[in-house]
Amino acid sequence: MKVIEVKAKKLFVRSGIPGAKWVINQYVGCGHTCLYCYAKFICRWKRYGRWGSWVEVKTNAPELARRYVDGWVVMSTVSDPYQPIERELKLTRKILENMNKKVNLSILTKSDLVLRDIGLFKRFEKIEIGLTINDEKVKENFEPVAPDNERRIEALRRLKEEGIRTYGFISPVIPGMTNVKRLVRKTKKFVDFYWIELLNLRASGKVFTRKLRENFPKSYEILRDERKLLNS
Ligand code: SF4
Repeated sequence: MKVIEVKAKKLFVRSGIPGAKWVINQYVGCGHTCLYCYAKFICRWKRYGRWGSWVEVKTNAPELARRYVDGWVVMSTVSDPYQPIERELKLTRKILENMNKKVNLSILTKSDLVLRDIGLFKRFEKIEIGLTINDEKVKENFEPVAPDNERRIEALRRLKEEGIRTYGFISPVIPGMTNVKRLVRKTKKFVDFYWIELLNLRASGKVFTRKLRENFPKSYEILRDERKLLNS
C-alpha cells in the first residue's frame, strides 16, 4: 500500500448528500479495494496507481477536526475510516478525540475495527454508526479485503448493546446475490434504520461490469435492463 501524506486546507466540506450538511474524508483512497467502488473515479485526478494500491492521508486532519459545525457530518465518502491502515495510523481515532462532541456525526464503514472506538462514540451527543452489509457471495467475489459480513453484523450488535444508534447500509444490492429480506431479518433487533441501495452499473466501472457479466450473467442482465428503463 502506497501511503501519500498531505496537509489539507480544510476537513469539513459542504455535502450534497440528502440529510447531511458536511462530509469529511481524512483518507482518500481505500485499502478495502472493492471492485465496484464508486469512489475510484478519483483515480482520474489522483494518479498514484490502481484503486486500492494507495491511500492519501491528511496528516493534519486531527487539528482541522476541532472546528465546530452545525448539521450532520458524514464520515467518509471516498474512503473507509476503518480501512486496514487505520489500525496502524489511528487517524480516525485522533479526529474523534479532537472533534467537538456536540457535532452530529454519522460514520459508515465495512470494518469491525470500528468497535475499538466505542468509548469515544459515547462521548458524542448525537452519533450514528453504519455498517455496510451484504451477502457473503458479494464479499467473496467483489470485496476481497473487507471483513466478512458476519463480523460486520456482530459489530452492529455490539454497538447497539453499548447504546449507540446504528444503521445497516445494504449495498450494493445485486439482484440474485443480495437477499435484502434475509439481511433485515437477521439484523433488525439491533439496527435502528437501513439505507438500501441498488448497484449503479455505470459508477461501478468496466472491470467490475465485465466480471459480473462473465460470472453472474443473470444479475448483469437485470441491472442492465434496469438502467435502460431509467434512461428511457
Ligand atoms: S470500503 Fe467503501 S470506499 Fe472502500 S473500496 Fe469499498 S466501497 Fe470503496
